[in-house]
Amino acid sequence: MPITYEPVIGLEIHCQLLTATKIFCGCSTSFGAAPNTQVCPVCLGLPGALPVLNRQAVEFAIRAALALESSINPVSIFARKNYFYPDLPKGYQISQYDQPLATGGRVAAGDTMVGLTRIHMEEDAGKSLHHGFPESDRQTMLDYNRSGVPLIEIVTEPDLRSAADAANCFGRLREVLVAIGVNDGNMEEGSLRCDANVSLRPVGSAAFGAKAEVKNVNSFRFLQKALEFEIDRQRGILESGGRVEQETRQWDSDTGTTQSMRSKEGAHDYRYFPEPDLPPLRIDEAWIARVRETMPELPEARMARLVAAHGLTSYDADVLVRLIPGAADFFEATVAAGASAKTASNWIQGEVRRKLKELGREDLSAVPFGPAGLAELTALVDGGTISTSVAKDVFEAMWTSGESARAIVEAQGLAQIGDAAALAAIVDAVVAANPDPVAQYRAGKTQTFGFLVGQVMKASKGKANPAMAAEILKARIVN
Ligand SMILES: [Zn+2]
Repeated sequence: MPITYEPVIGLEIHCQLLTATKIFCGCSTSFGAAPNTQVCPVCLGLPGALPVLNRQAVEFAIRAALALESSINPVSIFARKNYFYPDLPKGYQISQYDQPLATGGRVAAGDTMVGLTRIHMEEDAGKSLHHGFPESDRQTMLDYNRSGVPLIEIVTEPDLRSAADAANCFGRLREVLVAIGVNDGNMEEGSLRCDANVSLRPVGSAAFGAKAEVKNVNSFRFLQKALEFEIDRQRGILESGGRVEQETRQWDSDTGTTQSMRSKEGAHDYRYFPEPDLPPLRIDEAWIARVRETMPELPEARMARLVAAHGLTSYDADVLVRLIPGAADFFEATVAAGASAKTASNWIQGEVRRKLKELGREDLSAVPFGPAGLAELTALVDGGTISTSVAKDVFEAMWTSGESARAIVEAQGLAQIGDAAALAAIVDAVVAANPDPVAQYRAGKTQTFGFLVGQVMKASKGKANPAMAAEILKARIVN
């Protein structure tokens, strides 16, 4: 019997906190400035410069811990993580080690819950930029603008068993961090990065195999691909009787492979010790309570509320809250302006989303007429003033003209014909013009009825009230 292996995966997510200034100094954190223009003695690691902890960074870290149900430790300790690298001017990174900000917690991944080991605060390093080819002409430039930017690192338990679940878990973490306003979710600019630890073990075995750490993956798709590659690579080694090396590997999106970077350091290699320039971080219950009050509603809670309060299906709530940015806010404002929940939800998921896609936009803020405008349009449909098909034309006109739905309907005379006498005249004309289908209907071929209703709608330029038109037509041709 060949041995069957299962992957064991844990994630470490580095999340840049959305503070205006760095974690231990007043330098700006804004992205894209000219190199080394957002630096000072503290974040350049000059001798004698002392760090001062950014209060806002701590509050954002508390928010993240609360949202992820992690328990916040009353005292946490900053520690020096010592290593030598050009982008780390002090020769150490200020991080947290054996007393992190928070421990435990959980996040969903697909249908399973993934445990969190810890959440700790730390500073980011600078950025190395490599220029020149071949190797002999190669130069490395250093940009310290990112040095000292506040991060939290979220470490999951090794609870994940597939590359797809790992990508899903990273996605859910991003969603929560963005929803609570502590991260901008911008993975291309590196505000959210993921390292993944992956090993294989025989199914049924409790022990872990030797793991590889895949560093700095900055998209969900790449994370999944990197892990799929790594799982196959390790399985190949194990099945041919080899031994997986514990090492750090880098994902190369050009080749779709991971490459060895270095053998993995153990914690002892970093010679952690408490940071002597910073006092212990004390977070009391009162502070946690104040932060809790400022927390926005989390996506899961909001979905549940939309289902309970507005009778939406969980599918609709999921699309509005998670799939279309800003849609849940737009939906609630549309309902508050008088639209029915089901109608508002259908329009946002249907016409509004289609139109945004056509314009290459994805955020509801691009809708020029806002929730009140949509509510007015749906009220005209629900009240029988215009049919759904006319409403779609009015909707288009609202984008181009900026006029309200009511103004467009009045100016273009689009109101439905609900007047029996006017409809009867149109029906008579259609009956007279279509003797054959009428005769066929009377002979029992009732399928022609739909055709005749269509002719009435066409003759009325789509303005006939379809239910009334069908009723009058039926009365006219039955006998
Ligand atoms: Zn600075």
